[in-house]
Amino acid sequence: MDFNDTPEEAAFRAEARSWLEKTLGAPNAKASLRVEGPEAMKAAKAYQKKKAEAGFAGLTWRKDVGGRELPPIFSVIFGQEEQKFQAPTGPFAIGLGMCIPTVIAFHSPEGVNRYVAPALRGEEIWCQLFSEPSAGSDVAGLKTRAVKDGEDWVINGQKVWTSGAHYSDYGILLARTNPEKEKHKGLTMFVVNMKAPGVDVRPIHQMSGGSNFNEVYFNDVRISDSERLGEVGNGWNVALVTLMNERLAVGGSSGPEYAEILELARNTPSPSGKGTLLQDQAFREKLASWYVSAEGYTLGKYRTMTALSKGQTPGPESSIGKILNANRMQDIGNAAIEAEDHFGIISDPALAPMQGAFHNAYMWAPGLRIAGGTDEILRNIIAERVLGLPQDVRVDKGVAYKDLPSGR
Ligand SMILES: Cc1cc2nc3c(=O)[nH]c(=O)nc-3n(C[C@H](O)[C@H](O)[C@H](O)COP(=O)(O)OP(=O)(O)OC[C@H]3O[C@@H](n4cnc5c(N)ncnc54)[C@H](O)[C@@H]3O)c2cc1C
Repeated sequence: MDFNDTPEEAAFRAEARSWLEKTLGAPNAKASLRVEGPEAMKAAKAYQKKKAEAGFAGLTWRKDVGGRELPPIFSVIFGQEEQKFQAPTGPFAIGLGMCIPTVIAFHSPEGVNRYVAPALRGEEIWCQLFSEPSAGSDVAGLKTRAVKDGEDWVINGQKVWTSGAHYSDYGILLARTNPEKEKHKGLTMFVVNMKAPGVDVRPIHQMSGGSNFNEVYFNDVRISDSERLGEVGNGWNVALVTLMNERLAVGGSSGPEYAEILELARNTPSPSGKGTLLQDQAFREKLASWYVSAEGYTLGKYRTMTALSKGQTPGPESSIGKILNANRMQDIGNAAIEAEDHFGIISDPALAPMQGAFHNAYMWAPGLRIAGGTDEILRNIIAERVLGLPQDVRVDKGVAYKDLPSGR
C-alpha cells in the first residue's frame, strides 16, 4: 500500500485544486450540499458546464465521447478535491456516474452521439429506474412490462425511490420483456424520455422535509426499439454494469465526521454538569469507537486508491466502506442531536448548531444504509465473495418468472 500521490497524481491534484479555487472560491466544508429549488439547480448546471469545458468531467471516459481516458485514480482525486469545496454535483451523480457509462457501453453510436455530450455539460439530467415496490434488493424480480408493438415497446408498471426523477430529462429503465424465462433472463434495458406521454412522476415527501425521490408510473409509454440498451433479454448484464458503478459511487460520505463531533464535544456541557462532553467517560468511549471506524475507513480507501493507481480493479472495500460510513453517520447524528439537547431538534441551517449538519446526517443516514445495497445485502456480498461462506438459498433458481409466487 502506498499512501502518497505519484508525481503525476500530485500534479493533477494541484491542477484540480487551482481550477476549483478559481471557479468556486475558497474550500468551504460547511457549505450546504443541498441542491433544492430552481436557482440552486441553475447554479449546479452552470458549474457542471464550466467543469466540462475545463476538461474535468468524464475524466475516465473515452476521448471520442468527450473524456480524457485517464485511469480511475484521477477521478477519485478530483472528487476528493471537489468535496472540500462542496461543489453542487448532486443532480449529475446518477446520470454521469451510472446511466451515461451504461449508455456509452450499450447504446448505438447515434445514441452515444445524442446523449453523452449534453449530459456531460449538465444540460440534461438522468435518473435510474430500477427499484419497484416489490423489487429492491431483489431487483431482478421486477414487474414493469415492456411489450413489443411494431418498432416500439409499450411500457406499463411502476417504479419507486427514483432519485431526481422530478427534474430528470431521461432515465435508464429496466423492464420485463419475457416472463416465460427465469427472472434474471427475461429483462431488457431502455432509455426513456421522462417527458414522454404516459410518464407520471410523483415526488415522495421525506422525513427531512425534502422530496428527493419519486414514484414513477408508466401508462402505455412508447419507447422506440432504437432506444434499447443491449440485446433483448440481456438487461440483467446491462444492469450489472450500472450497479457496479453505483457501488463505487455511493460509498463516500458527505456528512459530519470525527473532527466535527470532536469540536461539538469540546464545546458542549456534559449532562453530569461537570466539564464538557469531552470529559464525559461514556462520550469518550463513543469518540474512540468513531475514531477507530473513521481511520479504518480511511485506510480501506487508501487500499482502493492504491489498487486504482496500479490500474487494478478495487475489491469489496467499497461495500465495507459504505456499511462503516452510513452506520457511523447515523450514530454520530444521533449522539450529537441528543448532546445538543433542545437545539438538536432544529433543522434550519440558519438556526441550528453547525448549520444543522448533525440533524441532516441523522435524517440522511438511514437512506444511505439502504441506497445502492442495504447493510444486509452488502454483508451477504462480503460473506459470500470475500469470506467464501456458502451462498444464500436460491429457491427461484431455474424457475420461470411467471411461475414464481410474485410473478403473476
Ligand atoms: C436514498 C435512496 C435513493 C434511492 N435511489 C434510487 C434510484 O435512483 N433508483 C432506483 O431504482 N432505486 C433507488 N433506491 C432504491 C434502493 O435501491 C432500494 O431501496 C434498495 O435496493 C432496497 O430495496 P427495498 O427498499 O425494496 O428493500 P427490500 O429489498 O424489500 O429490503 C427490506 C429489508 O430486507 C432485507 N433483505 C432483503 N433481501 C435480503 C437478503 N437476501 N438477505 C438478508 N436481508 C435481506 C434488506 O436488507 C432490508 O432490511 C433508492 C433508495 C434510497 C434509500
